[in-house]
Amino acid sequence: MTTSLQQNSNSDTSTKPLLKPGFLSLSRHEWADLSISLGIPAYRGSQIADWIFKKFATSVDAMTNLNRDLKQHLSDHLDWKIPECVSELQSDDGSTKLLLKTAAGQFIESVILRYENRVTLCVSSQVGCKMACSFCQTGKLGFFRNLSTHEILAQFVFAQRILNAEGRRLSHVVFMGMGEPLDNYANVVKSVKILTSPDGYGLSNRHVTISTSGVVPKIAELANDVKCALAISLHASRNDLRDELMPINRKWPLEQLKDSLIQYQQTTGQKITLEYILIKDKTSGIREAKELVKFIHGLQAKVNLIPFNSHPGLPYDRPSADEIRAFQEYLAERSIASPVRYSKGLDVSAACGQLAAKTIHSVDAAPERKRVIGIEPSLT
Ligand code: SF4
Repeated sequence: MTTSLQQNSNSDTSTKPLLKPGFLSLSRHEWADLSISLGIPAYRGSQIADWIFKKFATSVDAMTNLNRDLKQHLSDHLDWKIPECVSELQSDDGSTKLLLKTAAGQFIESVILRYENRVTLCVSSQVGCKMACSFCQTGKLGFFRNLSTHEILAQFVFAQRILNAEGRRLSHVVFMGMGEPLDNYANVVKSVKILTSPDGYGLSNRHVTISTSGVVPKIAELANDVKCALAISLHASRNDLRDELMPINRKWPLEQLKDSLIQYQQTTGQKITLEYILIKDKTSGIREAKELVKFIHGLQAKVNLIPFNSHPGLPYDRPSADEIRAFQEYLAERSIASPVRYSKGLDVSAACGQLAAKTIHSVDAAPERKRVIGIEPSLT
């Protein structure tokens, strides 16, 4: 099925200059400020914010209590384009994968994950990714650009409009789609603030999760800048193995990552989730389980075990059910909670980056992969 909303951008500082802020990038407070700066009573700003945050409006035309002059003002001063949905794939397990096309013609993915008592949206924070994790399709795409706050929140609005028809509300957001969220720090943090503000979309702080591959300096900043849950894509607890699977480890090895997590917990008092992918003959042996226990020592953390999903182009396999069970039991015997999480939406290519990879390779020229280690200004 093909649907369409609109598109665009705002405070993205890493790519093209933007002429107008995207309408989804403004907080309620900023709507009031904008109204005043346009010579319009502040209550009008509050009316507009209600349309956006409570009714998920995506055009000035939908705001029926605004007069024509005000609508024209808003059209003139803000960008009202949002990404177009080019593909909406329903999985047998109830998840929906959305392939969205930005105004610049680049593709990003979001996934709606429906559970009995909650609905979670997995959002993308970048077009592609610099981190080049060896088990990840998005990592193979290379990096195109950061998404703006507007483009990140457009994924939320788009998904909620689909759920409106089902009488359901998004309750959780996870930054686990395409990209490394902490490599697009300002736009991701602003998105989280708008998502969790009672004056914005009003999600619980505990229900919004930023997942990082380990951008160590930004973990310390995050502890002070925003309240949300933190997940670490750990995936290996030995430096030699993590260096191989996740090149970011060569810049910030496990010792530095662990120090940053201890510091984060001292500041926030929050438990951390460690995501750990089980890859046959790589990360799933008892030796690796022992290393994981050592890494967790001193942290307040739970572990999500994620059996790898084999797919063409990636040289890894999923371990057997017995190996997965043995790994989990090793942790359980040491009082470490470690539920096994199977990816949803496998029948519709819901593994991160699969759909966009197919589309990008068929439509766009492959981007030049940027270097992860040493010279990326946004990583230093
Ligand atoms: S796993 Fe995450 S950080 Fe690593 S390449 Fe994929 S999207 Fe980037």
